Amino acid sequence: MMDLAKGKGAALIAGRVTTINKADGQVTGVTYIDNETKQPTTISATDVVLCAGAWSSSLVPELPMSSTRAHSIVIYAKEDVELSPYVLFTEIMLPSGETVTPEIYGRTNGEVYVCGPGDDSPLPATVDEVEVHKPACQILWDSVTGISEQLREGTLEFEQACYLPLLDVSSGPVIGELSKVARRLWVATGHSCWGICNAPGTARILRNSIMGSNIPRAASSLGPSKVLPGMSDD
Ligand SMILES: Cc1cc2nc3c(=O)[nH]c(=O)nc-3n(C[C@H](O)[C@H](O)[C@H](O)COP(=O)(O)OP(=O)(O)OC[C@H]3O[C@@H](n4cnc5c(N)ncnc54)[C@H](O)[C@@H]3O)c2cc1C
Repeated sequence: MMDLAKGKGAALIAGRVTTINKADGQVTGVTYIDNETKQPTTISATDVVLCAGAWSSSLVPELPMSSTRAHSIVIYAKEDVELSPYVLFTEIMLPSGETVTPEIYGRTNGEVYVCGPGDDSPLPATVDEVEVHKPACQILWDSVTGISEQLREGTLEFEQACYLPLLDVSSGPVIGELSKVARRLWVATGHSCWGICNAPGTARILRNSIMGSNIPRAASSLGPSKVLPGMSDD
């Protein structure tokens, strides 16, 4: 997707944004630490889109946000195992009597993705500092291999964790112009556990908003007024 965007003139700069710059109530650009040079660099902009997931409120503290960490593992099934491209929402009773509810996603490339519930581990400063709690991954492995011989014979490929972005005041997401903070500052965050499915729709709402086109009626309730009281979504 990035290559397609580059073909249309976009450029990707990898870095960590430290400040969204403003003047006279309008965004003027961002300052970031460049991943390669490690130097603070400022880039000017007419519009800034904030979509830093659970970290969005570290850049705009007015956003009432929190986060939850969730673990997942990836298992590669043996070559002769044919996987169906379906999702299983399970309820599995462990020998201890505890019931766990991992989600199991079979993929046609032989990969099986398994994810578990969230915990309240505090959000680290950056995504590079997210810690994987091994026992949480062990529970995922034990529970799904306990019900499937095919998974038991598979190879554990990855153990990982990530943070879901949550809005404190609504079930989210929030998409639109944060004009109360700065004009032409756009936000798209708080997607909780549905950010993958909702990504294309989110991008469409943002594009229409930024370019001044109509947004779908269904999106009108997602504007920033729901998280920043007193703000208009017009
Ligand atoms: C285990 C698990 C299972 C899930 N399953 C599903 C599912 O089945 N379907 C579904 O739709 N969704 C699912 N989700 C939810 C989905 O992953 C999230 O809703 C989505 O990733 C949120 O997207 P985002 O872009 O807002 O945030 P993120 O994906 O967290 O991306 C934010 C990005 O911003 C970057 N960033 C942060 N701060 C800065 C900064 N200062 N400067 C520059 N970059 C910064 C981060 O490094 C990160 O790359 C799942 C999530 C988890 C944890």
